[in-house]
Amino acid sequence: MSGLQRPRTTSFVTLPIAALAAASLAVVLASLWIGAHEADGFALKRQRETIEHALKQHGHSLARELRMQTIWSEAYEKSRDRDLTWLQASYGTYLNELLGYDGLYVLGPDDNAIYGYMQRNGSVADYARVGPIISDLVHAVRAPKSFPEDYDVVTTQVPLANGVVVNHNAVADVRKIDGRASTVVVSTIVPDRGYTAPVGNSPMLLVAIEEIDADFTHHLGENFGFRDMKWTREGGPAGDATEEVKSLDGRTVGTMTWLKDRPGLEFLRHVAPGLLLALLLVGALTALLVRWGKRQAKQILQSEQNARRAARTDALTGLPNRAALRESLPKLIAEARRTGSTIAVLSIDIDQFKAINDVFGDAVGDAVLEATARRLQRMTPEHSLVARLDGDRFVILAPDLEDLQIDELANDVIATLAEPFDLDSGTRIFITVSVGYAIGLRDGGTGDELLRRADLAVGKAKGGAAETAIAFAPDMEAEVTYRLMLEAALRSSVANDGIDVVYQPLMDPSGRRVLGVEALARWTDPELGPVSPDIFIPLAEEAGLIQNIGEIVLRRATKAAANWPGVSIAVNVSASQIHHGNVVEVVRDVLSDARFPAERLEIEITESVLLADEKRANEQMRGLQALGVRIALDDFGTGYSSLQYLRRFGFDKLKIDRSFIDGGVEPLGSSVVLTSIIKLGQDLGLRITAEGVETEEQMLWLQSAGCHELQGYLFSRPLTAEQMTAFIAAHRANRAVAS
Ligand code: C2E
Ligand code: CA
Ligand code: CA
Repeated sequence: MSGLQRPRTTSFVTLPIAALAAASLAVVLASLWIGAHEADGFALKRQRETIEHALKQHGHSLARELRMQTIWSEAYEKSRDRDLTWLQASYGTYLNELLGYDGLYVLGPDDNAIYGYMQRNGSVADYARVGPIISDLVHAVRAPKSFPEDYDVVTTQVPLANGVVVNHNAVADVRKIDGRASTVVVSTIVPDRGYTAPVGNSPMLLVAIEEIDADFTHHLGENFGFRDMKWTREGGPAGDATEEVKSLDGRTVGTMTWLKDRPGLEFLRHVAPGLLLALLLVGALTALLVRWGKRQAKQILQSEQNARRAARTDALTGLPNRAALRESLPKLIAEARRTGSTIAVLSIDIDQFKAINDVFGDAVGDAVLEATARRLQRMTPEHSLVARLDGDRFVILAPDLEDLQIDELANDVIATLAEPFDLDSGTRIFITVSVGYAIGLRDGGTGDELLRRADLAVGKAKGGAAETAIAFAPDMEAEVTYRLMLEAALRSSVANDGIDVVYQPLMDPSGRRVLGVEALARWTDPELGPVSPDIFIPLAEEAGLIQNIGEIVLRRATKAAANWPGVSIAVNVSASQIHHGNVVEVVRDVLSDARFPAERLEIEITESVLLADEKRANEQMRGLQALGVRIALDDFGTGYSSLQYLRRFGFDKLKIDRSFIDGGVEPLGSSVVLTSIIKLGQDLGLRITAEGVETEEQMLWLQSAGCHELQGYLFSRPLTAEQMTAFIAAHRANRAVAS
């Protein structure tokens, strides 16, 4: 049945570890990737800015370069005079051949070209195409202050001889001219410093055009670290980065393309081997962690399972315990209900198990329980379950058997356990068990109901003498109900002074003198009528009322005995009073309250007192004897202990059980047992009382056998205190007559 546990995996530990590792890895990789990507983006932005900057710088350097040619008195005059030959030689040919300009124009104050040089198809008329493209630059040079700062017109002040200062203005920008990206510089032409002639307000202009060719872009690439830089129209595969170059007036001049710098990617490529190694390490670490976690989890599961199993296993026998039974039973009942079959619940109780523990010791008791468990396991049919409940109570759950088979099984249990147990210690133990059973679903539909009813049946089996298993019968419930009712009634009678005491005399062997009286409790319930002590005394013991009854009897008896000088009184004390009560204190208190001499009190206890806790029994007996009270062993012979064994407890008196006296047909004289008991008692120096003397013949035999006291209906039935007073008085007279 313990196999019905849910299977579980270790994933509850390993999964989180693996997930955590994977997540961390993902985060690291993602950060690296994003970082690299951003670095690349940043690098691209920087490269774009670099292009813009480089072009601008180039323009400026050209403008600077041309300052020599435009702050020049000769050029000023020659251009103003429109000396085309000079212009051709000093501007056109010179600037083209020496400095590599592709186009050169000189503009008049009205901005029309008076001279033009264009390398490819150089003619003045060409300026008609160029003019509109650069008109803003022309205006910027003529009126720098009215132009936005972007134009960045460079102004140089040139002081003339007459103290007048003229401004030399130059501006540079990129323009698309004849389909080619070019740097254009527009500059005023002014005389050198110290020029003596007067200078007009509208200077001539030099327009210089230099194509930004493949060479230039190549250099740009080299200088600023661009790879494969070119204009897109140059053919060949374009790079992966482009930049649209725009002029100051917002027109597209051309598109540059190059191979992007990928510092991020580069970085990744560099760290890749290290990263890979780290990843491997992390992976290995994770694997280790997962393995460790798995083992840990397994252990947790294992101990959880062990704990579960332990909680459902009886430690001594290894059988399932009550908890396991309560778990399995409902399942079996459900199964029986489903298939329309039966489930038998057998309750097995070892008789007098306590005695085995007490007499042979706990180790032997445990060995017997273990051996019992083994035998039960061996003999039960397949699919049955044997469980040990508390103490000496076992239960068998046997599914799917016919009524007859169940009865057979129950009686087999009795027979099997009746075989002697030969323990390892060499001890041979005989036990008997009582077995009761209930059958589901006939006797009940729930586990608790079936268990309770099987218990009722075993209770019945224990009570009866029959050595067969008892099946549950519905009237057992009625008995239980009756018992509960009786208990409630007894409880209320005890509380409401409903317990009486009667007295039976103990006579000398001649039957003439009253030596003592035995106090006996009586209960007459207002509704139920008189209830026998054989019923209400055990009931009081179980209900925890015996202490109260014991004290009531003791108080009444000591009080009544005040009227019976010289007569001892005997009071019965039950085992549970010795073991659970404070009998010594109670007796001492009662004696002192009643001013009753302890020597006149006799306490009668039965052998069963010695079964539970020898040590305590001994202590309590010593305590009572220390008060001066005598102790009698009652009902001797009904138990199993030898007199030799009992001697150790130091009884003062022995009361032979009445079953030996009214033993039936055989005459007393032939009872070997009785003869030997009396003989042995005498040898041990005990006073011997015979109970249940009903005939003259018995009296005479016991007299001659050497008994010291006789008790029985022959002399008197139990009497009320008043009747006893009269009885004693009569026998005192008797004694007087006799003596
Ligand atoms: P017991 O201590 O053995 O008491 C003697 C029983 O034998 C009494 O039964 C008495 O009436 C009965 N008896 C006396 N002479 C004869 C006779 O000649 N023939 C027959 N057949 N019986 C005789 P009772 O009063 O019914 O008491 C039954 C048992 O109840 C007592 O047995 C005793 O064990 C218990 N008991 C009675 N009163 C008390 C009490 O106050 N405390 C305790 N703990 N137990 C008590
Ligand atoms: Ca007695
Ligand atoms: Ca007795």
